Amino acid sequence: MKRLAKGTLVFKDKVFNPNKAFFQPLSQEQHPVALMFTCCDSRVEPAIITQSPPGTLFMVKNPGNLVPEYQAGASTSEAAAIEFALTVLDVHHIIVCGHTDCAALKALFNLEGMPGESAIHQWLAPHAKVLDALEERQDLEAALNELIRRNIIQQLQNLRSYPEVASRLAKGQLHLYGWKYRLETGETMLIDPFSCKPEPLSTIIAQLEEEARPEMTLGQMEKQVP
Ligand SMILES: [Zn+2]
Repeated sequence: MKRLAKGTLVFKDKVFNPNKAFFQPLSQEQHPVALMFTCCDSRVEPAIITQSPPGTLFMVKNPGNLVPEYQAGASTSEAAAIEFALTVLDVHHIIVCGHTDCAALKALFNLEGMPGESAIHQWLAPHAKVLDALEERQDLEAALNELIRRNIIQQLQNLRSYPEVASRLAKGQLHLYGWKYRLETGETMLIDPFSCKPEPLSTIIAQLEEEARPEMTLGQMEKQVP
């Protein structure tokens, strides 16, 4: 814990103070580029992976980067985040980012052996249908990778069940993306619902628009740190 506490002091002195011109407007408003759903795994740090400073990503982290299917009147944090990101922040991009070695998805394989009253069981059980179409495989690692891929595609599908998402998609005001972060290589791959094989994200970079406002990257900001 001491390291964390010290880190807050270093951040204020070496990152915040030298970049006040960047941080002060952020204290009044935010215009994030994307809403991102990713796993609460401590090794998945989207700001670092995307080299993005504060104010860029509106983030939901939960075990397994899951998006519950829309239910009218349901008050999940995921539904509230979607509503806020779209109707208040007018975000035009939603990313579901899974990752390799995901403990939440490994737990899905063992749902039967878990006590039904466990919070993890209760959280994962509504999403167990991603296991249905999974072929029997001897190789657990290959099965897990396929589950991670299918899970990302299923969460993109679940996002479409939200009326606000569906309506904005139909008007071309919103774009959905599936990403998979590889812990072992640092690469982020594009997960396309129509392709079985993850592609490097570099394949779509040329099609993406540059943000209207000039962006400071996390790397530029941290160069201030001696
Ligand atoms: Zn995970």
